[in-house]
Amino acid sequence: MSGKRAWWVHVVPWVLAVLCLAASGPAKADKGKGFIDTHMHFMLQAGPSGGGAGSSGPMGPRSGGRDARSGPKQGASSGDYDSAADQLAAMMDPLGVAKAIVLPPPQIPNQNGPGGYSSFKKALDRHPGRLFFMAGGLELNTVIHGTPPDRVTGGIKADFEKTALALIQQGALGFGEMAALHLSLNPEHPNENVSPDHPLFLLLADVAAKTNRPIDLHMEAVTTPTPLPAGIARATGRNQTRLTANIPGLERLLVHQRGAKVVWQHIGWDNIGQMTPDLMRRLVRTHPNLYLAFRVEERLRVVGGDDRMPNRLVDPAGRIRPEWLSLIQEYSDRFMVGSDEFVCPVGIRSRYPESMSKTWAMVQTLPPDLAEKVGHTNAAQVYRLD
Ligand SMILES: [Zn+2]
Ligand SMILES: [Zn+2]
Repeated sequence: MSGKRAWWVHVVPWVLAVLCLAASGPAKADKGKGFIDTHMHFMLQAGPSGGGAGSSGPMGPRSGGRDARSGPKQGASSGDYDSAADQLAAMMDPLGVAKAIVLPPPQIPNQNGPGGYSSFKKALDRHPGRLFFMAGGLELNTVIHGTPPDRVTGGIKADFEKTALALIQQGALGFGEMAALHLSLNPEHPNENVSPDHPLFLLLADVAAKTNRPIDLHMEAVTTPTPLPAGIARATGRNQTRLTANIPGLERLLVHQRGAKVVWQHIGWDNIGQMTPDLMRRLVRTHPNLYLAFRVEERLRVVGGDDRMPNRLVDPAGRIRPEWLSLIQEYSDRFMVGSDEFVCPVGIRSRYPESMSKTWAMVQTLPPDLAEKVGHTNAAQVYRLD
């Protein structure tokens, strides 16, 4: 009797192990080396309802779980970031995302914002080889936005460069999240607006070239001077009522330092209406150091209005639109993915619109070799993650 029992005890675990391997093996093999998400955030407290891309939309509070609340970051503990890191890792698995880069949102002086990379860096160690970081959203972006272009002195430049180099020494994969034009989309959300060829952006490009580390850029596209969209003006009075063109400044930045790779984030998330596939085609054709990172947010309408969000990547069924697909095919080595979702600790649900699963679902609709380039190869090369 005891002999029979011992036989089962030894065999059953092996059978279970073989069954588990059989179930999980093929799915992982299909994913190649696994996808890379170049742009994710942690959030221990939420802004007002709506949001995304460090910003907001017309979405109301979401249901399910406790809502993350707005408030000062001082109440945060390192355990909260540990939990958010675990939550992110759990979100990555079913999407085939092997690696993700977490970065602080772009902040301005006196914002009392979420802080810099040092607040969450240690939590990333819970998932070695999977979670990485960029830095500068606090340390560099506040200096750029706090220093008028004609007030940039040699001393400020020297300090700025020293800070940027130190971030890379700390392990940052690049500089971000940096902002040129970041619209305020709700009353507690910062407006950030400097020209992309601000002298400190030019200096950052030089440091990026020297270190071979990319710049991660948040910028609404403005090709010609244009009034602030009415819905955004209704949502908050924090923005300038007339937007100046910033594409010429972006092009001057790209020309200034061809050795600097600039990853323009949130392509497909357009609050003004000028981020067209035609504009993107002209820019990637002209500038070999420009990369574009995609984002598909669940929000379908413009902020403060009923119009459809312009220049979305996908149709209502989630399929990539033909004009975007042909552009990606034409310049397949210049596109990557940055979901830009705000991940909260386990048990807390972000009130910002979801974007990670929608963005990666779009990638899955691409032809497999294109999905591999956009989802993995290009990001691995630019962020040096292989
Ligand atoms: Zn952003
Ligand atoms: Zn972001």
